[in-house]
Amino acid sequence: MAELTLDGVTKWFDDDGDRIVAVDDARIEIDDGEFLVLVGPSGCGKSTTLRMIAGLETVSRGDIRLGNHTITDEPPTARDIAMVFQSYALYPHMTVRENMSFGLEESTDMPDDEIEAQVEQTAEMMGIADLLDRKPGELSGGQQQRVALGRAIVRDPEVFLMDEPLSNLDAKLRSQMRTELQRLQEDLGVTTVYVTHDQTEAMTMGDRIAILNDGELQQVGTPLECYHEPANVFVAGFIGEPSMNFFDVDLQGESLVADEFEYPLSEELLADVEGHERLVLGIRPEDIELAAEGDGPHEFQTAVDVVEPMGDENNVYLTFADADAAGSSEEIETFVATVSGLRNVESGQTVVAHVPEEAIHLFDRDTGESLH
Ligand code: ATP
Repeated sequence: MAELTLDGVTKWFDDDGDRIVAVDDARIEIDDGEFLVLVGPSGCGKSTTLRMIAGLETVSRGDIRLGNHTITDEPPTARDIAMVFQSYALYPHMTVRENMSFGLEESTDMPDDEIEAQVEQTAEMMGIADLLDRKPGELSGGQQQRVALGRAIVRDPEVFLMDEPLSNLDAKLRSQMRTELQRLQEDLGVTTVYVTHDQTEAMTMGDRIAILNDGELQQVGTPLECYHEPANVFVAGFIGEPSMNFFDVDLQGESLVADEFEYPLSEELLADVEGHERLVLGIRPEDIELAAEGDGPHEFQTAVDVVEPMGDENNVYLTFADADAAGSSEEIETFVATVSGLRNVESGQTVVAHVPEEAIHLFDRDTGESLH
């Protein structure tokens, strides 16, 4: 079993007497064979978490277990874990063959001919068999990336750790490698922790994703759980492109009230927000429907500010229709709706934005926690 457990893992660095907490009490159980993506903005503690699992960084508090075995204080070489770095970290003076066999020669007593056979088999699988006698300097970025992956795979470890392994590739190659990597991981069935700051990568690749912010795990769940049921405002804003629209609203009577609109709530939603008055209303751009007219309870009168054509979709930036007329000196609030690219929407046009009640998200404004 290669179930990987982080049990209250914490890391602090000492910065001239100040304690910087990079990772705070991380708790995750990563199943045997699971592909877990650790995602979050720059500086949130992703790499530090990965480096602690690899043994490249000490753990300040908490434990890391592989199966039933605690590995917290084991040196990196004693852990059955292979890491793929963003920079690939290939030895420039060694051939691809030597780069791939080096780890096996160092860490096992496998006979040379067996190592050779394994390297060739893995190179075949990675489509780099004809590159085995070249040096890294003679390879493209994509080929180097395959070698780095091949070097991890050939060791047949219990866990793969990957730190933004695709970020040096161009967009097309990156999306091709995403699919390939996923297929490879599924075939090999090796427990994998993959770090990225790119939410699209996380959403498309992970069996589950763990979202980290400021050293703290915000939510661990399937991509769809995190998308549909974000635990808090941070997750809601981080997952999804374009980002969720947020409005500060107050609960007054049975409606959400902002300067620009009033939005009545059903009894069910009122029950969910009971006891909370200062709220944040979240609406995903793809949940907004635009119509020429309408005056239902869940509709906003808006004006089209800018249309951003995206090919099959348009991102339509809207303002509340009355905001201009009021001559408000405050910055005019815009929000975005994603609609089919076939729709003809133009700047300056007035439209009705319909937001079905099933689609809205509500958060406590003080804690950021989701309320339903
Ligand atoms: P990025 O995506 O930019 O690589 P990250 O999410 O991987 O960021 P980490 O590199 O894990 O973030 O850093 C987490 C926090 O710990 C940051 O505030 C960083 O400045 C701090 N940190 C990391 N390494 C050290 C160190 N050796 N000494 C002091 N602080 C550190």
